[in-house]
Amino acid sequence: MSDTKRIWVLIEQEEGKAHPVSWELLGAAQRLSAELPGSVVEGVLLGDNVESIAAEAYRYGATKVYLIDDPVLKVYRNAPYAFGIANIVKKFTPEIFLVGATTLGRDLASAIATRVATGLTADCTELAIDPEKHILAATRPTFGGNLMATILCKTQRPQMATVRPRVLPSPNPAETGTGELVRETLGMTEDEVAVKLLNVIATDAGDQVDIEYADVIVAGGRGLGAPEGFKLLEELAELLGGVVGASRAVVDAGWINVSRQIGQTGKTVRPKLFIAAGISGAIQHRVGITGSDFILAINNDPNAAIFSVADFGIVGDLYEVLPELINQIKAQRAGHGAAEVAHA
Ligand SMILES: Cc1cc2nc3c(=O)[nH]c(=O)nc-3n(C[C@H](O)[C@H](O)[C@H](O)COP(=O)(O)OP(=O)(O)OC[C@H]3O[C@@H](n4cnc5c(N)ncnc54)[C@H](O)[C@@H]3O)c2cc1C
Repeated sequence: MSDTKRIWVLIEQEEGKAHPVSWELLGAAQRLSAELPGSVVEGVLLGDNVESIAAEAYRYGATKVYLIDDPVLKVYRNAPYAFGIANIVKKFTPEIFLVGATTLGRDLASAIATRVATGLTADCTELAIDPEKHILAATRPTFGGNLMATILCKTQRPQMATVRPRVLPSPNPAETGTGELVRETLGMTEDEVAVKLLNVIATDAGDQVDIEYADVIVAGGRGLGAPEGFKLLEELAELLGGVVGASRAVVDAGWINVSRQIGQTGKTVRPKLFIAAGISGAIQHRVGITGSDFILAINNDPNAAIFSVADFGIVGDLYEVLPELINQIKAQRAGHGAAEVAHA
């Protein structure tokens, strides 16, 4: 083993487009590297005809990208991806390996960890270097989100962790960046892959929305009283150029699609503006919204926990507050009442 401590980040891509969580992880890897003497930040990229993505990775701080470019990797399948990555892990012995906790990343990271016989801390909310042991300290919620546990992988390498999109801040890319491209071969042919892709069937696109990267989210909870309440939220979201989100309670009640769920078992969000209407602010919900720039909470209970994370709170009935908010925004757009809205 060399003395260089490699901090690897999976550059996840689909149809030739990198998932932004890859850049969030490269940002985290650079912060870890600053605390870990002798370490370097490197990317791992797999796919078919995806070499151009390496240039992007350099701009986000990777000094080197390990590339396995092979037609077998055109569409994600667990076996060839895990096989290819496990081989280069054994060859280059990274110290730390970070993967996005996306659908693909969750599936892949656990398979890699199994193949190279190491530990994996899933869904981390914080990554640091333990100041005494100089190893990865991966923090994640436990006991239903009521406690945070910091997990160390003392004996096995690499130390693996997954982090959900938007849990970490997005770094700004450098205007230019250069790095070294290391080409590796897959060593697996199509005949050796048991799973075949016959057809791609799009999921019901009717209620699929990318809330993780939305700038404005208007979220509703059980305080809406009935699923029809979401119409009001949709109207406000549309006026603000945002999307509708939800607490788990209303997803479980079948009022709205699970793709809208925010929190520990839903999505983590970082909008510029988060409006929470009729959401109590349970810890499992709050952990998903604390990266928001500005939180406006509307709740008729002055003691609701949501107010503890809100920048601005309105104690009142959401069915009185939201229509007024909508009316004022409309009035402002129409050129009236701008002063009052700005004041509000
Ligand atoms: C392991 C685990 C994981 C979980 N994961 C998640 C998760 O990912 N996301 C999540 O959200 N939850 C999650 N939960 C559930 C969480 O604990 C709460 O039960 C849930 O967030 C509550 O949803 P709510 O705020 O909509 O409902 P409630 O807690 O019932 O709150 C409704 C709020 O609306 C207010 N209200 C009522 N009427 C009005 C009105 N007319 N105007 C204004 N306000 C009104 C009430 O005062 C109350 O504060 C999880 C729980 C566990 C155990």
